[in-house]
Formats: sequence, structure tokens, C-alpha cells
Amino acid sequence: MVARTITAPATPLARTRRARRIGQRLADGFPQAPCELDFTTPLELAVATILSAQCTDARVNQVTPALFARYRSAAEYAGAERAELEELIRPTGFFRNKASSLIKLGGALVERYDGEVPGVLEELVTLPGFGRKTANVVLGHAFDVPGITVDTHFGRLVRRWGLTGETDPVKVEQDLAGQLPRAEWTVFSDRTIYHGRRVCHAKRPACGACFLASLCPAYGTGPTDPEVAATLVVGPEREHLLALVDLGPVPADPVARARADVPAGPA
Ligand code: SF4
Repeated sequence: MVARTITAPATPLARTRRARRIGQRLADGFPQAPCELDFTTPLELAVATILSAQCTDARVNQVTPALFARYRSAAEYAGAERAELEELIRPTGFFRNKASSLIKLGGALVERYDGEVPGVLEELVTLPGFGRKTANVVLGHAFDVPGITVDTHFGRLVRRWGLTGETDPVKVEQDLAGQLPRAEWTVFSDRTIYHGRRVCHAKRPACGACFLASLCPAYGTGPTDPEVAATLVVGPEREHLLALVDLGPVPADPVARARADVPAGPA
């Protein structure tokens, strides 16, 4: 099984090698790792990403079909009637602040970019409701411009892997950008976030059933017993993820399933 002691990479070169090996291994676990927010245009992704702050992607995806049907352009967000907009996005939480961001975003896009979402990081980060994380999500998925998305999962995992000791998201982004080929920035981010949501949870990571255990200095942070750990793996890919570590189907822990921000997988 996967138990062993792995030391953290001690030099920049060792961190780069470790990052690339983890990237290769992540591709085995999550060959397909699409953006988990539903969208068809850069504007829809920008809106969905703003709504995803402090909210699960699954909840955002429940709200956006009606929202996108009601507001089809930046100009329509700019001219939105606040009470109606707030009601549509209320289930995502912080709906007053988010409504303000969406109305201001629509206005800024109309004023400065002819209603279009720009595909440049330096311009995106000036938009209402946008930070680097939001900007990199939109760049990577709506414009195919590589970007590293440092959300709570990404930061936790790359620190567990010993790839950075930083907690500031910009410094984390810089560290990983120096370790990974630019073309892999977006897909490495997506797969890392998938792993964080499905296997390497903040509380009780599934170490004993983790296909990255042989590369991970934080092995043992969660249960190492394979049968126990297997119950903590969640999401639609769980049978595939368990097969990678030679574990057969095991019922998922209902608490882990309820806590996870992932589509329901096999029980
Ligand atoms: S689940 Fe455990 S072994 Fe796997 S990446 Fe997370 S901390 Fe490391």
C-alpha cells in the first residue's frame, strides 16, 4: 500500500521536479478536469466566478441558468433592477455585495470595453468583483490563457506537497509559476483543486487512499488505513481514484460526501 515517509523537497530544483511529477500523477487521477462552473461565454464565467465567492460551485450552477436567461449582456447587468437581481442570486450568499459587484461590473465593461470581458490579466484585475483568482479562472477557461488559480484548496495542497511555504496567494502563484511549464498552469490548478475537493480535504484528507501519497511529505495528515481513507474519497471519479491505489468499491462516508463541494459520486 502507499505508506512511507517522504521528505519535503529542499531545493528549488527539487521542488520543480516534485511539482512536475505531481502534475503527471494528477493527470492520471483527473485526465478530464473541466471548470466546475457552468458557462458558455466569458461574461457568464465572470459572473459565475464572482458568485462562487464563499459559495459552492454546485450552488452557483443551480442559480445561473435563470440568471443568465434574465441578463444576457454587460449592459443588462449595468441596468439591472437591484431587488430583482438580489433575489435571483440570494442562494449564493452575500447577495447584496455580489449584486453590487455585478451591476458595477456591467457598467465598467460597457464604459471601458464596449461590453466585452477583456482577456488580459492586468485589465481583468481592475474590474469590480475581480481579484487575481477570479481573473485567472476567467483567463484560463474562457480565453485559454494559462493562469494559476490560488484558491483555498490550491494553497493548502501545494503547501502540503512542500512546493511552497508561502501563504500569500500572489507569492504562492509566483512559486508555482516558476516550477511548472506555462502551458500547464491552468490544468495543474484545476486538477489540484479537484484533488483538494475529492481526496485531500482540509479536515481528514484521505491519505491512505491517495494516489499521490508516494510523493507527499504530508502523508499521515489524515487516516492512513486504506479502508478508512477510502470512505473519505468523494465525487464522480471515486471508483477510478480508488482503483489507482488498488482499492475496490467502498461506501463513501456520508459526512465527507455532505461536506464536499463536488457532484455526487457513487455511494
Ligand atoms: S491526501 Fe494525504 S497523502 Fe494525499 S496529497 Fe493530501 S496530505 Fe498528501
